[in-house]
Amino acid sequence: MEKKRKISIIGSTGSIGTQALEVIEKLQDKFEIIALAGGKNTKLLEEQAKKFKPKFIYAAQPIEVTGVKTLSSLDEIAENKDNDIILVACSGKIGLKPTLKAIENGINIALANKETLVMAGDIVMSKAKANGVKIIPVDSEHCAIHQCIKDIAQVDKLIITASGGPFLHKTIEEMKNATVTETLKHPRWNMGKKITVDSATLMNKGLEIIEAHHLFGFDYDDIEVVVHPQSIVHSAIEYKDGSVIAQIGLPSMHIPIQYAITYPERFEGIKSHSFSFAEIARLDFEKPDFEKFPTVKLAYKAGKLGGTATACLNAANEEAVFAFLDGKIKLYQIYEITKQMLDEHELVKNPTIDEIFEVDETTRIKTRKIIDSIN
Ligand code: MG
Repeated sequence: MEKKRKISIIGSTGSIGTQALEVIEKLQDKFEIIALAGGKNTKLLEEQAKKFKPKFIYAAQPIEVTGVKTLSSLDEIAENKDNDIILVACSGKIGLKPTLKAIENGINIALANKETLVMAGDIVMSKAKANGVKIIPVDSEHCAIHQCIKDIAQVDKLIITASGGPFLHKTIEEMKNATVTETLKHPRWNMGKKITVDSATLMNKGLEIIEAHHLFGFDYDDIEVVVHPQSIVHSAIEYKDGSVIAQIGLPSMHIPIQYAITYPERFEGIKSHSFSFAEIARLDFEKPDFEKFPTVKLAYKAGKLGGTATACLNAANEEAVFAFLDGKIKLYQIYEITKQMLDEHELVKNPTIDEIFEVDETTRIKTRKIIDSIN
C-alpha cells in the first residue's frame, strides 16, 4: 500500500475487533485509524482509544477520551468519506444500517458481521455493485473462497468446510442434554458466545451458506458443506474442469482479518510460524449428519425461500440461542423453535430494509413469547 490505508472499526472491542487491532498494531505503518466503535465495554474502548489514537470514537454508553472526538451515532462513521475501508466486526443487526450507509458513500467494507448478508444480502450486494464498493469477507470460509476464486464464471460449486463443533462425535441423546458449558467448549476456534452456540448446532454453517450465496452469487444447490474437524482447509471451490482449489492454513482469525483489510496486498503481519503439512499429518472429511444437525437444512430452506425468510431464521435463532444461554431452553429446542417460526413466517418476497427490520422485530417478540410459554 503506497499510502496509509484509513480504516474504521465498528465493533473494536469484540473478538474480531480486538484481533484486528493486533493486526493493525503489527502493521502500524500501513494504517491510520479514523474511528473505533464499541458496545458496552467502554473500559476496553477507552484503552484502545488511548493506545491507537483514532480521530473518533463511538460507544453505546457515554464515554470521553482526551484528544478524541466522541460521535453520537455509528452513521457518522459510515458517512465519513475519509475512510478507505470500514471493518464491520460487531455482531447482530446493529451492523446492517451503517454498512449500507458506508456502501452508499463508496467506502469499501471488510465484513465480519454475518447478519448484514443473512438479513439483507440482496439489498447489500446490489448497492455495493451500484456504488462500485468491494465487500471483502472476514468470515474464514468466505475469505478462503475469496482467495481461491480467480474467474468466478468458471467455478461450478463452492465447498464450505465445517469443524463440526463440540458435538460432532456425540450422540443425538448427548446433544439433547448438553449443558451451556459443554456447548461453549469449541474444539478449534475461540469466539463470542452466540457464534459458539451456533457452531455447536451447526446453524453457524447454515448462516454461512446464506452469506456465500449472496457474496458469490451461487445457487444454494451449488453450495456444499463438508465436515472437516481439523479446520485447516478453510473452504474450497471446484472449477468446471474438475480442478479443486482450497485455501489452507492454521486456524487463526488474524489471517482472514488481515487479508480483508490489506486486500489485495499481503504482508507478513502476525504469522506465528511457517505452515507444515508434515506437522499437520492428516486431514479428515466427512458428510454432515443432517439428522443430528437439522439447522443446516433449515438454513438451506430459508435461503431458497429468499425474501424475509432468512431474516426470520436469523432473529428466531438468535433469540433461542440467548434463551439457551440463559438456561431457559435446551440446546435442541433452538432448532425446534426456529423451525416453528420459519414455518409460520409470512414471506415478503422483495422486502425493503424497513420491512426486514420489521420482520426481525416481530419474529423476536413471537419467539420470546413461545419461549416464555415453554417455561
Ligand atoms: Mg466462519
